[in-house]
Amino acid sequence: MSERGEQVAERDAALLRERGLRVTQPRLAVLDALERAPHADAEAVHRALAGAGREISVQSVHNVLADLTGAGIVRRFEPERSAARYERRVDDNHHHAVCARCGRVEDVDCVVGEAPCLHAVAPAGFTIQAAEVTFVGVCADCALAA
Ligand SMILES: [Zn+2]
Ligand SMILES: [Zn+2]
Repeated sequence: MSERGEQVAERDAALLRERGLRVTQPRLAVLDALERAPHADAEAVHRALAGAGREISVQSVHNVLADLTGAGIVRRFEPERSAARYERRVDDNHHHAVCARCGRVEDVDCVVGEAPCLHAVAPAGFTIQAAEVTFVGVCADCALAA
């Protein structure tokens, strides 16, 4: 592993410990894959790890992603007509733009600047804490190809 890779792994190991998770190679590998390719689904993470020569089952990837999501290290969101995607950008209330043609997902900064971002008319007694907005459109590549 390169020196930079080691530093990253150490940072991630500290993060896992801080959130009460045991440090395991699969967890570090999944975090690394999401660092390189945000908004990946479990299949894509599995492909990336397999491509890097790591033997890990798709089920294990799902388990690791569930652990990381449960610990708040990874954020999960589900674009329409797509498998759940995962990303490490968890510390803000950002939203997503999904390309209706190719499914590419890009980050959109919070519309208002703070959670819950949208001014909703909440049902009586309901406390709104966050808003998840998916903007649907056509990405730059698909617009060029049209
Ligand atoms: Zn597209
Ligand atoms: Zn995102």
